[in-house]
Amino acid sequence: MLVSRITNESLSIDDVQIKESDIGQPCTQCNECKEGFKPHVWRKTCKNCKCTRDGHEITTEYGAKSRLGFVGHNGLDARTLGYSFVPPGLTTARQVDQYYSTLPSEEVPKLGSKGEALRLQRIVRQLPKQDLSLSACKFIDSDYETSYKDFVTGRNEVALDVGIAKPSPPNSVCANCSSALSPQQIAVTAPRLGNLVWHPACFKCTTCNDILVDLAYCTFEDEIYCERHYAEKLKPRCAGCDEVS
Ligand SMILES: [Zn+2]
Ligand SMILES: [Zn+2]
Ligand SMILES: [Zn+2]
Ligand SMILES: [Zn+2]
Repeated sequence: MLVSRITNESLSIDDVQIKESDIGQPCTQCNECKEGFKPHVWRKTCKNCKCTRDGHEITTEYGAKSRLGFVGHNGLDARTLGYSFVPPGLTTARQVDQYYSTLPSEEVPKLGSKGEALRLQRIVRQLPKQDLSLSACKFIDSDYETSYKDFVTGRNEVALDVGIAKPSPPNSVCANCSSALSPQQIAVTAPRLGNLVWHPACFKCTTCNDILVDLAYCTFEDEIYCERHYAEKLKPRCAGCDEVS
């Protein structure tokens, strides 16, 4: 079942915002990394400690939508409500608070909290920049460029979208855990998957089981994935450089 995305926002590879801060970021995996992240020439690892890049506190100033190339903004202003992100679809501060009350507190991206830092790390991990823009790929040869562009265009047309939060209709059952949602409880919907609804804490990648950051998801055979694991359904990813080919 394929349903087209929300049509009021355009999605374009020319608009992807993939800037990240990585140099000197502390390692979360070991105590050896005194000077912080230093990129290996081609591996996605740190020269100072040998841990992976995403084991460090790599961050980005852009949210998932800008990173993916969505243009246009709608909805509430997150920062005035005290969060770094609020889900599309909610229209009042009360709904936002209700939505976040159903997530574990460490998952809530309140400004200045651990949840805010976790969100930025998830953006970097779930939405690898080398899957989003050719300019971030180091090892693509020119023969492969067409195939890369076909992959990105196909993904953007049929798989990628952002979920929308809204009060659940009566008698709704969560598509992940199969338990009931209370009427009017804020649920997540995925426009590409029709009428399915999820508990906010159940809107997770089928492969890594991580909560989908900023509700960004890809569909593959009626399941939802983060972009990283969607891409790996279609193409092998190099364990060294972390690029798909
Ligand atoms: Zn380390
Ligand atoms: Zn390091
Ligand atoms: Zn659930
Ligand atoms: Zn995943």
